[in-house]
Amino acid sequence: MLKKAINEKKKCRNNAKKFNWRQKMSSIKDDIVQNESAFDGVLHRENFHVNMDLFHTCPRYRNLIDSVCRHLTYLLHAKYEDYQTIKGVSGANAGIPFKIIAIKIDTNHSTIPDGFIVMINPTIISRSGLTSRASNCGSLLLKKPISVPRFENVTVAYFNSRGTREIQSFSGKLASTIQHEVDHTNGILITDAAKRNTVFYHDIIR
Ligand SMILES: [Zn+2]
Repeated sequence: MLKKAINEKKKCRNNAKKFNWRQKMSSIKDDIVQNESAFDGVLHRENFHVNMDLFHTCPRYRNLIDSVCRHLTYLLHAKYEDYQTIKGVSGANAGIPFKIIAIKIDTNHSTIPDGFIVMINPTIISRSGLTSRASNCGSLLLKKPISVPRFENVTVAYFNSRGTREIQSFSGKLASTIQHEVDHTNGILITDAAKRNTVFYHDIIR
């Protein structure tokens, strides 16, 4: 009797695992542009800058950008809350060719409360500490993460969701996620970034 109960419990647990995995993967494929998709028009090209003059003067344009920001944070929070590998999302991932990214902040970053950060027109203005990070992508869903050259520390200039200019420094995994998402805004996937060699990095450091 006890054995039967234990077996039943195991079976339930296994079914739950299987179900969750499938649900999560199909959930991503429903909402995130896939690299091989016939509709992939945004993953391999530089995305559009958000026009910050229009953002501040034209309410309809601002509403459009606000709704993109809300959609990206929705994808991070409501949809993939428990999908541990998704730490950031870009407009390109969502099929929206604007330079907007949203990043999960799950560490006690000194200047950002827990939650998320939205960056409009993010640009990495300084970087240091060349390293490499195992990485995967919601638009590629590689069977195994691949090693991508990344910087340990980056400083990013961007506009926040209210349109205010910000400059912030990040390090570690958070810095790596930001580099991944900023790459997306420039049409670069991790499979492209993995091919970068040190010569490329010497060029940008100079
Ligand atoms: Zn990605």
